[in-house]
Amino acid sequence: MNHPQPITMPIPGHIDPVPVPRDLKPRVDGRIDLLGLSRDDLRMALETAQLEPKQAKLRAKQLWHWIYNRGATDFTVMTDIAKDMRGWLDQRFVVSRPEVVEAQVSTDGTRKWLLRSDDGQDYEMVFIPDADRGTLCVSSQVGCTLNCRFCHTGTMKLVRNLTPGEIVGQVMLARDALGEWPSQPEGRMLTNIVMMGMGEPLYNFDNVRDALKLVMDGDGLALSKRRITLSTAGVVPMMARAGEEIGVNLAVSLHAITKDVRDEIVPLNRKYGIEELLQACADYPGANNARRITFEYVMLKDKNDRDEDALELVRLIRKYRLPAKVNLIPFNPWPGAPYECSDPDRVARFSDLIFKAGISAPVRTPRGRDIMAACGQLKSAAEKKSRAELDRMAAEKQAALG
Ligand code: SAH
Repeated sequence: MNHPQPITMPIPGHIDPVPVPRDLKPRVDGRIDLLGLSRDDLRMALETAQLEPKQAKLRAKQLWHWIYNRGATDFTVMTDIAKDMRGWLDQRFVVSRPEVVEAQVSTDGTRKWLLRSDDGQDYEMVFIPDADRGTLCVSSQVGCTLNCRFCHTGTMKLVRNLTPGEIVGQVMLARDALGEWPSQPEGRMLTNIVMMGMGEPLYNFDNVRDALKLVMDGDGLALSKRRITLSTAGVVPMMARAGEEIGVNLAVSLHAITKDVRDEIVPLNRKYGIEELLQACADYPGANNARRITFEYVMLKDKNDRDEDALELVRLIRKYRLPAKVNLIPFNPWPGAPYECSDPDRVARFSDLIFKAGISAPVRTPRGRDIMAACGQLKSAAEKKSRAELDRMAAEKQAALG
């Protein structure tokens, strides 16, 4: 995919950078999906459909507003566009939403959606309401290549990057479900976004960036970059670009402070080690005391939860002078997981040790456990079913043999 490069110096004779159209694949019905397109992409899509450039520019502006500010999915509601033009648009384009396969609500109010893409890939998103905020946990990939040993998504086989439309589509769908159109600055339920669903966002950098740009655009969904957090397992070479080109808050899945343990539970550590990762955090553009980096630390019984681990974590944060806070996540078990969660008093003691060193270390309350919506439990139903099918097949085979 090509993107217009930002021009930093004026080039005589060139007024505007010439945008390169994204390779837009029509859907099976021949129409092109406009969801996920930037203003420039929208304009190019209209021009490619033979709309005259001046018209294309005007229509793109109107469409963009209808799509991202008003949440429109139907051209007929776009009353400032002439009726025959609406018809023309409807023949060629759609504004889609991800297909909802299943929507579940937890006893604690957490909601989980299982979504399906046009090519039949399943992914999940979760909405976590709190008294003072509402956080949407967004997926960046179907499955994940990282294979963190404690993470359920890591056991999925199939991996593909989600497109910008599929990523921003999760936010649009949540807004639909919460009835939050048109986009308003006050009184929203959906206030925060965390890129902590399925997948590694920094392995899908371009699409995540393009989607988050749409989410942050003040005329559209208008979520502030201060209310968006991108979580990475530590893809060191992409961290500086994330800070420069996206500029959202950074969370890092640290989870261990020795090479041995981190190599085991976050295998990416064999490629980018702890010290390298912490240096990249120290260099992260925009991190300061007002905007701290969050270190996520999953509490695994007898694996990473000793007093020494907490103290070493403090030492490392100090060594790299990191404006940091620590988020302790009680391990959320899933069927067949090779670990157990640390005991509550161990977690409390671990948190205390870090607090005593002057670093905030709250324990994250698990949410939506009853609907398998808690951190690291996301895994598509299709996969779960095929697993169940496999088990059934195995049982049948056993019965036949026995
Ligand atoms: N790939 C990114 C974002 C997705 S995971 C990353 O690794 O940060 C979001 C967070 O959930 C990560 O901190 C991850 O380590 C954590 N997590 C995964 N499985 C978990 C589980 N079973 N229990 C608790 N936290 C888990």
